[in-house]
Amino acid sequence: MNKIINLLSRNKSENNIEVYGWVKTFRANRFIAINDGSTILNLQCVIDFEKTDKSVLKRITTGAAIKVIGDLIESQGSGQKFEVKVNHILIIGDSDPDLYPIQPKKHSLEFLREKAHLRIRTTTFNAVMRIRSVLSFAVHDFFQKKNFFYINTPIITGSDAEGAGEMFKVTTQNYNTNNDVKEDFFGKETHLTVSGQLEAESYAMGLGNVYTFGPTFRAENSNTTRHLAEFWMIEPEMAFFNLNDNMDLAEEFIKAVLEKLTLKCEDDLLFLNNRYLNEQKNKPSNQRSEMDLIEKINFVVKNSFKRISYTEAISILKNSKPNKKNKFKYKINEWGVDLQSEHERFLVEKHFKCPVIIYDYPTKIKAFYMRVNDDNKTVRAMDVLFPGIGEIVGGSQREERLEVLKKRMKELHVDENELWWYLDLRRFGSVPHSGFGLGFERLVQFSTGMSNIRDVIPFPRTPQNASF
Ligand code: ATP
Ligand code: MN
Repeated sequence: MNKIINLLSRNKSENNIEVYGWVKTFRANRFIAINDGSTILNLQCVIDFEKTDKSVLKRITTGAAIKVIGDLIESQGSGQKFEVKVNHILIIGDSDPDLYPIQPKKHSLEFLREKAHLRIRTTTFNAVMRIRSVLSFAVHDFFQKKNFFYINTPIITGSDAEGAGEMFKVTTQNYNTNNDVKEDFFGKETHLTVSGQLEAESYAMGLGNVYTFGPTFRAENSNTTRHLAEFWMIEPEMAFFNLNDNMDLAEEFIKAVLEKLTLKCEDDLLFLNNRYLNEQKNKPSNQRSEMDLIEKINFVVKNSFKRISYTEAISILKNSKPNKKNKFKYKINEWGVDLQSEHERFLVEKHFKCPVIIYDYPTKIKAFYMRVNDDNKTVRAMDVLFPGIGEIVGGSQREERLEVLKKRMKELHVDENELWWYLDLRRFGSVPHSGFGLGFERLVQFSTGMSNIRDVIPFPRTPQNASF
């Protein structure tokens, strides 16, 4: 079957081709623009309305699915190389123009979210989802070429110690009765995973270098433009890797997938670039990005990420003037406080004007499994911060020393009995190892310039919303 992308890349005319697609527009009873999702470009099909049945003409409406048989010829008009001179047209699926919600005009993203089953017919979502697919393949390609092994960690988890966020309960029990948990399906409390890290660590201790790429769930009640309740996370875990190796890998990885994107998705990126520029125009001047989307992507690919310790970050923030009032909403008054998104964005967008990796965070604000530094005050954690979205990667070198790990678990009230197997990894052939988690949707968000994370996943799950 001919796909439009193949037809448009031909170098000569051809008679009697067949092509399928959905009608985007029908102008002057003559020009039908169809699209089949294979490319952002529409195929112009020119019909002779005098020779076409009136009843068929009436059914060529926006959204209808049609089959066209005709001659692929060099285009008379400007704007496209080839067009189809239609010999025969067949309506495959009608679409009532009065009811079809995706009209050929600009719809708001909020409106389209309520039509999530049809929004993929718009040029914007078509481009975003193609990019999502290309990025996803680029992720596998990067790790496979480096001899990492793809592993699938459980989605239903028996431990609630992952600590990365609020969890969803998994149960077959009736909400109304207070049954004994022993009688529940698994005989214990279970949840949807918030991270595959702990299991990935176990597999890194046998396969060396592994990565996960799967769904994760967080019941965080935050209605932000960067959080979903169901999102996809990429979590590489490497044996014999320290924090520097980990930072190097994260940087190389992000650059490689973005570079692949610029090579493979030129047309989609050009379209989204224009969309991004238009959106910027409507913003107050002090919130506008200085670079367009493609410049931003290339900037990340070509420049080194700035690496600073948490302590350095705090001293920069303490002495900085973020805005006219010289104030952050959350004041940085002492070493040890967690950085808020406004601080992260200030460092990335105003101070360094490039992606930033912050490492060696205070022990107090980080998870139990991160390796404690000799100063006993900080851990070998790292966050990669990006313009516009803040944290895109969170990672660390893991604590490989049994006694230190046990002490940290005790301090944070993490149940040793629950994580006996995780401690075993430190009992039998423990090695320094590291890993990180990258939120896939945040990467797609950055790559497409979409401002809301709900618009880069097919069917977003957020508080009070699980339609479709
Ligand atoms: P944040 O502070 O932005 O909530 P986090 O500290 O909770 O992030 P981690 O637990 O380190 O994040 O998770 C690893 C990565 O997963 C993050 O860097 C981010 O890219 C992504 N991520 C985390 N929570 C979400 C979410 N609710 N929706 C989409 N992506 C997320
Ligand atoms: Mn979070």
